[in-house]
Amino acid sequence: MAAQVLAKAGVAVHLYDAMPSVGRKFLLAGKGGLNLTHSEPHEPFVSRYAERADTLAPWLEAFGGPAVRDWAAGLGVSTFVGSSGRVFPSDMKAAPLLRAWLHQLRQQGVQFHMRHRWLGWDEAGALLFQAPAGRVAVPARAVLLALGGGSWARLGSDGAWWPLLDQRGVPLAPLRPSNGGFEVAASNRAVSAPSAGADAASAAPALTGWTPFFSERFAGQPFKSVALRFAGADGSVFERRGEFVATRLGVEGSLVYAVSARLRDAIERDGKATFHLDLLPDHSAERVLSEVRHPRGSRSLSSHLKGRLGLEGIKMAVLNELLSREALADPATLATAIKALPITVVATRPLDEAISSAGGVRFEGLDPQLMLRQCPGVFCAGEMLDWEAPTGGYLLTASLATGRHAAWGLLQWLGRGEAPSLA
Ligand SMILES: Cc1cc2nc3c(=O)[nH]c(=O)nc-3n(C[C@H](O)[C@H](O)[C@H](O)COP(=O)(O)OP(=O)(O)OC[C@H]3O[C@@H](n4cnc5c(N)ncnc54)[C@H](O)[C@@H]3O)c2cc1C
Repeated sequence: MAAQVLAKAGVAVHLYDAMPSVGRKFLLAGKGGLNLTHSEPHEPFVSRYAERADTLAPWLEAFGGPAVRDWAAGLGVSTFVGSSGRVFPSDMKAAPLLRAWLHQLRQQGVQFHMRHRWLGWDEAGALLFQAPAGRVAVPARAVLLALGGGSWARLGSDGAWWPLLDQRGVPLAPLRPSNGGFEVAASNRAVSAPSAGADAASAAPALTGWTPFFSERFAGQPFKSVALRFAGADGSVFERRGEFVATRLGVEGSLVYAVSARLRDAIERDGKATFHLDLLPDHSAERVLSEVRHPRGSRSLSSHLKGRLGLEGIKMAVLNELLSREALADPATLATAIKALPITVVATRPLDEAISSAGGVRFEGLDPQLMLRQCPGVFCAGEMLDWEAPTGGYLLTASLATGRHAAWGLLQWLGRGEAPSLA
């Protein structure tokens, strides 16, 4: 996006990328349908960026959901709003959009230099690259870094820029997983009935993961139409319906990603975080209790719950996994667990597996045009900046919006005109 703004303004743009081709993460996002942006109004949209909402607001106002859709349309790709309000290309593919975009950039004169890994600066201040033919130094009048975060390193963004900017005194926040999965505490198992003594979930966890029985049968299976509730230490409460999947060691997926920043922060602070799962959000607690209490005769508990409440599959399995025999036999404890099953997570999955990264270049190290205060003429954009957001199209939108804004800043730096008003 930065290259597009710069080339359109008539600047000679050279785009360097370590990989053999550009946009690999963009293409991977296409596997999930390429959620380009979100259709919600500006205020709720901006609130998704939490503590960075105020910082990003003007850039997202200048280039938010509607602008992203117009931009795609300008490249011949129509979009539609899905039932969740998320926006996708009509064909739900990334490749045609990327192809059209690269074609346009080439026509605008952008020159692509692939397999050029940026290594920092040489003594004369030129950019240093590891290229197929060896090291090359490239002097540049201005530089815009859009090197991404640190997840899915095999797609190119490996966070190797972090020490390079650190050495220059740029204020940086450590890269941390955002929108990633978690490992459950092994001590989740056997939530006890009140009479059976202490809640095992509160014991210090030593191991992570489900039982081999549960993970072998249910890893990869979705928890559908559930509600997740997490009360933070600051008194804030996250509560949302959605779905997520069980993994071999824990949980991941859209509903978990939505709460992942809070869970991650709680784990960093307390070593664990416990959320509550409502397995039947369409049923009141009273209804669940009365159905659980209903005499079941000779039926097994599983067929009783399936028949009376439609509770089956992974939902039944997770009750068996986490509740003790006594808890399962006690209707009040069982009904409470169906409506609010405590699940304790104790570890985030590694950054490389996450959808995105938190942390990166701190905004206090950047001027309002996104130029590094420590490195005049060097601008930064995209996921390498210190913001995070849930999935929903917010990641690409802010990457595009900051790319556009930094490019306007760079043009101003070159004395090539005023940035448009962001009022
Ligand atoms: C599986 C997955 C699915 C996703 N789906 C969505 C989605 O549907 N919607 C959404 O909004 N977001 C999605 N995202 C997130 C989104 O793709 C990223 O936030 C976005 O691509 C960030 O853009 P960027 O330009 O800042 O960084 P990147 O897209 O990561 O690009 C950075 C580029 O810099 C290059 N680079 C890095 N270091 C160097 C170096 N030293 N020298 C030279 N080149 C270097 C890399 O090769 C790469 O091409 C998804 C992410 C993943 C992993």
